[in-house]
Amino acid sequence: MKELTSEALLAAVRRWVEIESPTQDAGAVNRVADLAEAQLRHLGASVERVPGVDGFADILIGRIPGETNADGILLLGHMDTVHPVGTLAGPLPFRVEGDRAYGPGIYDMKGGNVMALQALAHLRANGARPRLPVTVMFIPDEEMGSPTSRARIEAEAAKHRLALVVEPSGDGGRITVARHGIARYHLKTTGRPAHAGAYHRKGRSAIREMAHQVTAIEAMTDYERNITLNVGTISGGTHENLVPIECRACVYVMVATVDNEAEVRARLSALTPVDPDVRLEVTPGLFRPPYAKSPEIQSLYDQACALAREIGFEIPGERVAGGGSDGNFTGSLGVPTLDGLGVVGDGPHTHEEHLLVSCLVPRTKLLARLFETLE
Ligand SMILES: [Zn+2]
Repeated sequence: MKELTSEALLAAVRRWVEIESPTQDAGAVNRVADLAEAQLRHLGASVERVPGVDGFADILIGRIPGETNADGILLLGHMDTVHPVGTLAGPLPFRVEGDRAYGPGIYDMKGGNVMALQALAHLRANGARPRLPVTVMFIPDEEMGSPTSRARIEAEAAKHRLALVVEPSGDGGRITVARHGIARYHLKTTGRPAHAGAYHRKGRSAIREMAHQVTAIEAMTDYERNITLNVGTISGGTHENLVPIECRACVYVMVATVDNEAEVRARLSALTPVDPDVRLEVTPGLFRPPYAKSPEIQSLYDQACALAREIGFEIPGERVAGGGSDGNFTGSLGVPTLDGLGVVGDGPHTHEEHLLVSCLVPRTKLLARLFETLE
């Protein structure tokens, strides 16, 4: 019986982390895909590499046979991070301090990807196989909403019995059993330009109109029902002495249910300009639909907790995640989805991003046991 060690697991994580891979840099993300592809082939997977489109990197799909030929497990991870190239040499070098290992994307979610691959390698090294076939799917564009991967994820989801997502766990190791939905809306106001001194009266300000809309939109936030609307970016105007002709804003919406999503969409679509001489356009953008915990997800969760106990640790609980992941696509299609199976840590997307080294062995064992026992 070959044993997993935290030294070996951390070394494997480090190889991934030291290839920086911001979503927008297809060449960089493809270098991670090269490493992942080699590791999948080493596992005996048949690998399909779907060439990237729209400036994004490739999608990687590795199929590993199980003991049975039934519909299998879709294992989802993303290769991209939010950290620009240079973060590793600058504010967030790979380093270990006590139980914490720091690095760009180490928590979200290279640590989880590596644990999944190492769990499969561990089974193979011990002459074992997953019970069900496992399809490992690595996505290049999750941090930007998976614009080029969504259709492929949904197509694969339809062919699988369940989905496991190795996104980071929450709050010290919680597993994600449901996710809120995330929608983006793009707003544009178009006014009428005029010299801001002599002809101010003739102008119609696109920025002033947007200001009205921003307050109306943010007022739709309803914490009681887990509905939040955040105008996250805004830009407009070209010169301080010109009444601005154009203004743009992006709204990031979180909803807990499909009904709430429809309600917010209807309210945003019904917005009208306060100034009748200004035009307002509201365009829906990328959307991750919400999904709720089903009885099937409950039993997946219970099984994970029982396996963890056998291994010798406790899952500290379940959580409903506010942020989206590719699990939203599989979960909302009704494919039982257990998410947050990745590493324990904190500081996603920040210069404090880290994982806890002590989680690597037990949680990799948990993934191996899930592969071995899920049926
Ligand atoms: Zn992530």
